[in-house]
Amino acid sequence: MGCRGSGDVAATVFQGAQSRAMETDKALQQLTEFVQRHPRLLVLTGAGISASSGVPTYRDSHGRWQRKPPVQHADFMAEHTTRQRFWARNLVGWRFMRDAQPSASHYALAELEQQGVVQHLVTQNVDGLHQRAGSSRVIDLHGRIDRVRCQGCGAEYPRETIQQWLEQRNPAFARLAGAIAPDGDADVDDLDYSNLQVCDCERCGGVLKPDAVFFGGNVPTAVVAQAADALQQADAMLIVGSSLMIYSGFRFCRWAQEQGKPMVAINQGKTRADDMLALKLEWPCDVLLPALAMVLKGYRN
Ligand SMILES: [Zn+2]
Repeated sequence: MGCRGSGDVAATVFQGAQSRAMETDKALQQLTEFVQRHPRLLVLTGAGISASSGVPTYRDSHGRWQRKPPVQHADFMAEHTTRQRFWARNLVGWRFMRDAQPSASHYALAELEQQGVVQHLVTQNVDGLHQRAGSSRVIDLHGRIDRVRCQGCGAEYPRETIQQWLEQRNPAFARLAGAIAPDGDADVDDLDYSNLQVCDCERCGGVLKPDAVFFGGNVPTAVVAQAADALQQADAMLIVGSSLMIYSGFRFCRWAQEQGKPMVAINQGKTRADDMLALKLEWPCDVLLPALAMVLKGYRN
């Protein structure tokens, strides 16, 4: 009867690591060759790129809801209680969003923009982390949650200002909310938010809403046109960290296909465009993108 010694275990672990490293090399090589063939990229990013920044993703690797579906635009606009519930959860969540830091992938895409590879970056995320990492050619398809806009007169407020208002007007709630963890959706629901004082516009008394597209809301036509124009100028599209379940992102794949522009996706899990892709890399973007930026920089020097 054989007995596996510690040497055997170490050898197995080593072989596993070695084969994983070889697979990573192969994925990186495929990605590098793709970018060298198509040097002007439109990048489309989704929640997966912000996962390692601590921003919660809404869907799992099969594209299914992981958390409660977010609030619908029409309900937010129509119902005071929906706004109370939204701001109660958002008062908690903002503390974590505010502290989120760009990931290695955000920084790598900023570097690739510097190198002239990333022509434009269209993001479905509303966290502003691309800009914080240094990307400047960003189109925020779904808006930004660090801004709040009056739905009556259009006045814009920093989200942080609204946080201060909310906490001042709801000190007891703010104290309770302070103890809740980033994934504490259920804990928030246990709090009584029926007395929560929401903020209205200082100028006109209108409804204040984060300057982001809610579910059931529309992406502004001018933003779609800007992103479509960016696609026209690109040789190919690189999709990062998105299952493309939402049509506002998926339509860019349809358009790219119509224009004969190849697509590559770096996404751990299924995407809605899997059968349209020239290359699919089920790899962490935090591994591949910094490596790609380094390899391409090496070619230039
Ligand atoms: Zn207003």
